Amino acid sequence: MAPTDLKHGGNYDFIIIGGGSGGSGGARRAASYGKKVAIVEATEQYGGTCVNVGCVPKKIMWHSADLTEKVHQAAEYAFSGPSELPKFDWAKFKPKRDAYIKRLTGIYTTNWAKEGIDLVHGWARFVDPHTLEISDKSGEKYNIHGKHICIATGGYPIIPSDNEIPGASLGITSDGFFELETQPKRVAVVGAGYIAVELAGIFHTLGTDTHLLIRHEKVLRTFDPVIQDTLTSWIEETGINVHKTTKITKVEGEKGGPLTIHTDSGAPFEVDVLLWAVGRKANTGNLGLEKAGVKTDDKGNVIVDEYQNTNVADITSIGDVAGKALLTPVAIAAGRRLANRLYGPAKFANDKLSYENIPTVVFSHPPIGTVGLTEPEAREKYGDSVKIYNSSFKSLYFSMISKKEPTVYKLVCVGPEEKVVGMHIIGQGSDEITQGFSVAIKMGATKQDFDDTVAIHPTSSEELVTMR
Ligand code: FAD
Ligand code: NDP
Repeated sequence: MAPTDLKHGGNYDFIIIGGGSGGSGGARRAASYGKKVAIVEATEQYGGTCVNVGCVPKKIMWHSADLTEKVHQAAEYAFSGPSELPKFDWAKFKPKRDAYIKRLTGIYTTNWAKEGIDLVHGWARFVDPHTLEISDKSGEKYNIHGKHICIATGGYPIIPSDNEIPGASLGITSDGFFELETQPKRVAVVGAGYIAVELAGIFHTLGTDTHLLIRHEKVLRTFDPVIQDTLTSWIEETGINVHKTTKITKVEGEKGGPLTIHTDSGAPFEVDVLLWAVGRKANTGNLGLEKAGVKTDDKGNVIVDEYQNTNVADITSIGDVAGKALLTPVAIAAGRRLANRLYGPAKFANDKLSYENIPTVVFSHPPIGTVGLTEPEAREKYGDSVKIYNSSFKSLYFSMISKKEPTVYKLVCVGPEEKVVGMHIIGQGSDEITQGFSVAIKMGATKQDFDDTVAIHPTSSEELVTMR
């Protein structure tokens, strides 16, 4: 029997499995239309990956790193003070960061309760398309029923098996990064995507001796070439030891102790922490999808159409588990639009999230902003009608500083009207610049529209409206 504290007694209009970004966004919107809604969440990490082990604590650590850079640069702006520069104290900071995250997760549950959403604690498994079996922490099992069920179970970071790479399990993932009580002196980060670049950047900027092991020549290979080139060479210049075309062959040592990293190129080396950032996998195992007949692709992502429908009536899926654009605002927007379509007024009857022109930022040092097509994607789609505008400069901030970070901007335009179909920028402030320009690009702005916009001086972003 369902626990007696559930307001709706185990029978719902809408059940969302997963209390992360997507689950919360979708559930709250459905509840706003007066529906009986439940969120099933297996952990106490309310708010999911982003709040607990993703965007939020990561961005806080990025700010710590950013401040560290500023502290070092202050002397060149004629700041003087104690001969020893203030240092970041990881061990002191972590409990403060954790307390903030705890407060945030509390806000999630408070909002759900206020809005009449039942929070069902436990692991959900399909029994049939309208029934979930819930296994709670105490081992109790009971069923709940939904007219509609949405799968928003997110994903988890992967680690190669010990069969593939002996000792691989001695490493941690991004989840483990947030558990580190002290700052490691030496780390090896494996991977070339968002997480590898961001966490290696944080470690290095905070003063950890950082190795980054990548399989190819460049990081961020799915980004525009200008981003790959600029970031790869800059992080090398700043002192991250980038091991290119390198694979780990063996890891020796003990959990928590120093580890010896053996690779297929170069001599073995020792680190305190090995961090795998080689991608994530959808949380679809052990969900009983076969009982409901829900299909997944060969990577385990739930297959959905443009309306987030699975192949089974009354079962939808949103967010990371559906495998497309693994970003928090994407999961939230997909959840809200789904609830609009299912329960909202007639004007929302066809509401869905457009996956085109989704802006995204990589919190590297310096940060990257990107929206729309890369140059190779545009050339493949539009051939010779592509025109590229480039600009590379040092921002005014660095005029007073000897180690000058690069700023590189690219606009990808097509056709005689030079519609802007892609923007790729790296440099100080790119994280904040990108959102506004994404609105213009989403609205179909042309290069002339950019040029007709009066520049804001002196900024870096003015370069985007003055490119020749
Ligand atoms: P999740 O937030 O993962 O939520 C899924 C929930 O489902 C979890 O709470 C899980 O416990 C629960 N669950 C799973 N299976 C079951 C089950 N069977 N029963 C009950 N509950 C279940 N995105 C950005 O936009 N910006 C960033 O800066 C950013 N930084 C990131 C940094 C890191 C280190 C990581 C790992 C990710 C980052 N992301 C970022 C991505 C972002 O966190 C995800 O895209 C987002 O959290 C996905 O939301 P979701 O709702 O799909 O899944
Ligand atoms: P990604 O898929 O972005 O990157 C993983 C990369 O690791 C691959 O691109 C691949 O690069 C490399 N790789 C894969 N397998 C191996 C291997 N066996 N050995 C070495 N390298 C390998 O995954 P992440 O884990 O970085 O992040 C997952 C997702 O989370 C991101 O795609 C993003 O959507 C989201 N995220 C968003 C953030 C943001 O918005 N700022 C921040 C963090 C995460 P290659 O092929 O070049 O070797």
